Amino acid sequence: MTDFATTRGLFKLPEGIIYLDGNSLGPLPRGVERRLLDTVNAEWGDRLIRAWNEADWMTMPRRIGDRIGRLIGAPTGSVVMGDTLSVKVYQALASALELNPERRVVLTDSGNFPSDIYMAEGLLASLQRDYELSIVAPEDVGAAIDETVAVLLLTEVDYRTGRRHDMPALIHKAHAAGALVVWDLAHSAGALPVDVTGADTDFAIGCTYKYLNGGPGSPAFIYVAPRFADQARPALSGWMGHEAPFAFDLSYRPGAGIERMRVGTPPILALAALDAALDVWEGVDMAAIRTASLDLAELFIAEVESRCPDLVLASPRDGTRRGSQVSFRHPDGYAVMQALIARGVIGDFRAPDILRFGLTPLYIDKRDIIGAVDVLVDVIDRRLWDSPEYTTKGLVT
Ligand SMILES: *Cc1c(COP(=O)(O)O)cnc(C)c1O
Repeated sequence: MTDFATTRGLFKLPEGIIYLDGNSLGPLPRGVERRLLDTVNAEWGDRLIRAWNEADWMTMPRRIGDRIGRLIGAPTGSVVMGDTLSVKVYQALASALELNPERRVVLTDSGNFPSDIYMAEGLLASLQRDYELSIVAPEDVGAAIDETVAVLLLTEVDYRTGRRHDMPALIHKAHAAGALVVWDLAHSAGALPVDVTGADTDFAIGCTYKYLNGGPGSPAFIYVAPRFADQARPALSGWMGHEAPFAFDLSYRPGAGIERMRVGTPPILALAALDAALDVWEGVDMAAIRTASLDLAELFIAEVESRCPDLVLASPRDGTRRGSQVSFRHPDGYAVMQALIARGVIGDFRAPDILRFGLTPLYIDKRDIIGAVDVLVDVIDRRLWDSPEYTTKGLVT
């Protein structure tokens, strides 16, 4: 049984803040500071370049990949860390397209995160082979899968509404039509049980600074199904993915299996922070996370709907069709969110009118939910949001 009172103690949360934005940037796990200081002083400082071998820096992308793999149902040796999620979208899609060379359609949906779509557009333009990016409404994806589709590129959980695709069913349908699949798990890894093996996904990618609490800009992960790992050609053929980086050959030979998805020198400080952050997950049961997250969401939805009728639920009401966030619409959503943040309830805003709240049982409990709704009711009933200080947009929303 996962004890959430204990996991909450593993985070350094500021006093007086109710943090409902762990779906955007997870909070700081207490173990990170110590680990970073050790890596900086005892490894980088004392051992200098020798640390690549002596402190096992070189194998960190694989070792940490295996830790992520345990959270997403991937076997040992099938996940590697590096770069950012946008880069991993490019890598996975490029390899998948080459594995299905006769077809020309990449199918995605309009709920996908824009960067995934932009990266696909950029890749397809570079390939110059008449590829077509087909963007359909999320509910139409299943019907749009046919034998023209080379790759289905989807994000399981919609970043705005929290709507969750039926991943195993769509994968089954795509495979039956001869398409390959790339799944973005940005809002799934650490949020709900994921089983890339059971669902039979071909490629999966995700970031680690959201529900996995790895810190701002922490490295992304990529999973390649073992059946393709020695076959997928890496489009970003950097030296760290070479079979023998330190042979300094003049031509590229891909490394064995998932190693080939490495690109350049790994960000050791960021990996060290992530490694420490992942300690939080030791002994945590993803099924317990899911149950607790759905309980928090039910409570939050019931409270908001009964006490703030101005807010309209933007997330699916059926918990099984939702990730670990709840969103509401309000015409002045941006100002409402700024007023909430000013009062210590941190969520975020997504254009045009979405108030987004991440519900993360590792460190959020029912008292926090009630406390957050109390503040929300105050902000709405007294129109506290209707003030010039809350309408100016910052660089990051
Ligand atoms: C958060 C997120 C990203 C962000 O990509 P970065 O390269 O890490 O900035 C991309 N795709 C999805 C689906 C996301 O949720």
